[in-house]
Amino acid sequence: MDITPDQEPYIQELSRDWYHGKVAEVAMLRLDVIHQHVSGNKWYKLKYNIAFCRDHGINSILTFGGAYSNHLAATAAMANISGLKSIGVIKGTYAEKELTPTLRFCIDNGMQPVFVSHEDYARKYDNDWLAELSVRFNNPMFIPEGGANEYGRKGAKEIAGLIPERYTHVAVSVGTGSTLCGVVDGVGDNVRILGFAPMKGGKYLQEEISRYTDRRNFTIFDDWHFGGFGKHTEELVLFMNEFYKENNISLDMVYTAKMMYGIRQRIQGGLYQPGARILCIHTGGLQGNTSLKDRLEY
Ligand SMILES: *Cc1c(COP(=O)(O)O)cnc(C)c1O
Repeated sequence: MDITPDQEPYIQELSRDWYHGKVAEVAMLRLDVIHQHVSGNKWYKLKYNIAFCRDHGINSILTFGGAYSNHLAATAAMANISGLKSIGVIKGTYAEKELTPTLRFCIDNGMQPVFVSHEDYARKYDNDWLAELSVRFNNPMFIPEGGANEYGRKGAKEIAGLIPERYTHVAVSVGTGSTLCGVVDGVGDNVRILGFAPMKGGKYLQEEISRYTDRRNFTIFDDWHFGGFGKHTEELVLFMNEFYKENNISLDMVYTAKMMYGIRQRIQGGLYQPGARILCIHTGGLQGNTSLKDRLEY
């Protein structure tokens, strides 16, 4: 069954005050509005995976993630809506005793959780282990952690089709880099893609992503990790509240808040020409804000 979006994505210009009018335009591509539970880039990354299952008569999906993973939550929801069974291999046996809101959501959406130690989880690309899991769960479709496969990149390429030609730069946050890769492949020659990595040492992604595309129209920044993946500082929370007040857009703590912080700092540093038009992709992920909810003013 095809699932219908709640709302089509659209472009929202940001308040000129927020970027002090230093460039011609800064806007957000609101992928976060697509679906309440399969929001943002996950919608695009999962759609061809789901279609593959449908076309090949596969009735279950097995994937991997941590206890706060947007990918797990989106997969559980999309599988549920599409009438597929889902199995989530979850990093950390502690997670079984301390179910996070993300994991609760997954289980409520019919995902069968399989809690494994960090050592076992590290074998997520090991063919012997995958073969064991395949037998145990009756030949499910395997989707790698973060939805990082060819179907994910194929779906992400459609995001480029939503980007009007006037933009000179596109900013996107990067986890596995599948979304960025799709966008990099789909945009015209005059656009520069700016990838913001939310973890320490994310620069390695420049090389990693270069294995999947011949284009070199992108740069990865890893200066705005705020302590590491999933970590935040008080300053970031203040920034999120201020961004909401000025632009009426909720950002997520793990990805999009760090990207917007980074892009504003770069704009204020005069790194873009006054004529630049920058489109920032809102990749969704708002479910991950649950742990901050008492400190967010939205
Ligand atoms: C998953 C996710 C990303 C990272 O996407 P990749 O394709 O793995 O790079 C970025 N932003 C949000 C909000 C996400 O949930």
